[in-house]
Amino acid sequence: MTDLEFLIALAQSYAPEMDAERIERAYAVAVTAHAGQTRSSGEPYVTHSLATAKILADLYMDGDTIVAGLLHDVPEDTAVTVEELRAQFGDDVANLVDGVTKLSKLESYGKEQVEAESLRKMFLAMAEDIRVVLIKLADRLHNMRTLGALSHARQIKIARETLEIFAPLANRLGIYNIRRELEDLALKYLEPAKFDEIEALLSDDRDDRHSYIGQAITQLRERLAQDDITAEITGRPKHIYAIYKKMLAKRRDFEHIYDIRAIRCLVNDKNQCYQVFGIVHSLWTPIPGEFDDYIAKPKENAYQSLHTAVIGPGGKALEVQIRTREMHQIAEYGVAAHWRYKEPGGKRDPKLEEKINWLRQLQEWRAEVSSASEYVDALKTDVFHDQVYVFTPKGKIIELAAGATPIDFAYHIHTEVGNRCRGAKVNGKLVALETALKTGDRVEILTAKKGGPSRDWLNPTLSLVHTARAREKIRQYFKKQEREVARGEGRALLEKELRRFGLTQKNLDEIAKLFNYKNVDELAEAIGYADISLQQIGVKLLDLEQPKSALAEPMPLLETKARAKTSSDMRLEVGGVGGLLTRVAQCCKPLPGDEIIGYISRGRGIMIHRRDCKNVIDHEGSDGRWVTLSWHGMKQEQVYPVTIEVRAFDRSGLLYDLSGVVAGENVNMTAVSSKSRRDNTALVNATLEIGNANQLTRILNKIERLPNVLEARRVSN
Ligand code: MN
Repeated sequence: MTDLEFLIALAQSYAPEMDAERIERAYAVAVTAHAGQTRSSGEPYVTHSLATAKILADLYMDGDTIVAGLLHDVPEDTAVTVEELRAQFGDDVANLVDGVTKLSKLESYGKEQVEAESLRKMFLAMAEDIRVVLIKLADRLHNMRTLGALSHARQIKIARETLEIFAPLANRLGIYNIRRELEDLALKYLEPAKFDEIEALLSDDRDDRHSYIGQAITQLRERLAQDDITAEITGRPKHIYAIYKKMLAKRRDFEHIYDIRAIRCLVNDKNQCYQVFGIVHSLWTPIPGEFDDYIAKPKENAYQSLHTAVIGPGGKALEVQIRTREMHQIAEYGVAAHWRYKEPGGKRDPKLEEKINWLRQLQEWRAEVSSASEYVDALKTDVFHDQVYVFTPKGKIIELAAGATPIDFAYHIHTEVGNRCRGAKVNGKLVALETALKTGDRVEILTAKKGGPSRDWLNPTLSLVHTARAREKIRQYFKKQEREVARGEGRALLEKELRRFGLTQKNLDEIAKLFNYKNVDELAEAIGYADISLQQIGVKLLDLEQPKSALAEPMPLLETKARAKTSSDMRLEVGGVGGLLTRVAQCCKPLPGDEIIGYISRGRGIMIHRRDCKNVIDHEGSDGRWVTLSWHGMKQEQVYPVTIEVRAFDRSGLLYDLSGVVAGENVNMTAVSSKSRRDNTALVNATLEIGNANQLTRILNKIERLPNVLEARRVSN
């Protein structure tokens, strides 16, 4: 009988309807796909596929699982794809194989950077079909059985991983058979001395133990017969790792580990369990403190049994396990019993399903490994679907809330990656950004060199972002960006203002400090947010500059002024301009020689007041309509020639309007020139006799408000 024939026979022994031809076909596909590949032992690779399938048949698994077991390494290691398997063997097999392939990826990434605990969680979260985990366990078991062919370093690594991840997984799924073998094999590689010691001790008194157990079985069977109880009583397979743990935990030596000698008693129902328990305790003396009732209080993996230890025949300790056959199925096969009991029609025994209740187990397991609050959350949400585990292109595992999108993933990686996320590939294919990621997906984020998130990302109706963390980061970005926009605009305005006043040489941070801002960024931000006006800044800067500047020296008065000087009459001059419409204010009636000041009234020319007039003291500076006046021949208020440059779209009347503004301020314009430029703009240069900074600012602002004027600024030097 070939190994393949044996596999088919084994499967048909518990499932006569098993499709032999389909298993043969799967085997043929595996042989072809793995052709030329060998195991580390030198055997053809397909021996591993076959052995994995056989372990699954040992668990009495269904046909799809066995076929998937044969094909489990095909997509990972060969050119044959999952889709080709789907075409040949249907969805179930393809999905199982695909699931195993994804788990294998987890496994290899997990070795480096993920805690065993997360990896176990992931396995379960990922395996939507628990049969995937069973195939993975069978695969691991065969790898452990053949671990000898690998290097020492690989042995240690794989054995540790087996002990940390796969054995607990088998335990949690209640598959005692696999758990025991995985643990013993792992111990063999991790603690070879201890393993050999325990094995030697077990084999040393093997004959002794066998006859002892035989004797105990006979005694118990005879005693049960008296009560008409037919029980299946057997010795128990030795679990070296369990003995090792007990020796460590209870600090007992080998002689005092009770379950070295152990029997198991299977009966028909629960009542009989307690009946047998009573009989055992009457037949032999119980050892106090060694009784456990896992029937009343099943273990979290649904294990049920009565455990007791007694002083057996010849005064030696004996462990006795008592359970029903059904409990035994669950004890040995755990979740696998679920498929084992599957009826040919496809219906599962609901009672058994309820008993195994692996969903509950897994939930409890989760509770075990998670914090209290996480547990509450886990209960609130679907335990399997509240997390997804995905990979970075480098194979790092990222845990995200279920429903997470590539954008969530990107922000999880790094805020900058999130901000610059423009697209994503999942498993090598471009996807829409609102795609919900699935456990096992390999996610690659496509980023722009520059730029930020889109405001759409925060739109809940678009479902582009799922996690609160990503949303917060996007919000922060915009908040920060708003600040930066304000800063940028403020800075542009500030620079423009400085240009306007010809103050571009100024150190910006020093300017900021003048206004009690730490640096120019803060000042710019304040300007951007309109906390401080440009007017304030310009005036202060000009005022500060005046004394130091070359303009501080009174300039020789220009032509108009010079002409005025030649006149013999006492005439009024305003800023050096004579012949203006003036009226003497009646409140103070100023006389020539008095210090005077003028107020530009609406429509009635300039009112002349004495400098010390009460009205002047009360109102001077209240608005911009006060002008410096002097009697002809008296000392002049200082004026400064200032050249301004006005850029505007060329139009007729521009110069007229401009001179109107200047005259309206009672400022002398001493030179004007205008140039038309090719881009249809005109550049006007004018020299004004400016008395003070406020006046200049006012004039520039007024000119800028004229139609078609683009810019008005002072030309430095
Ligand atoms: Mn494999």
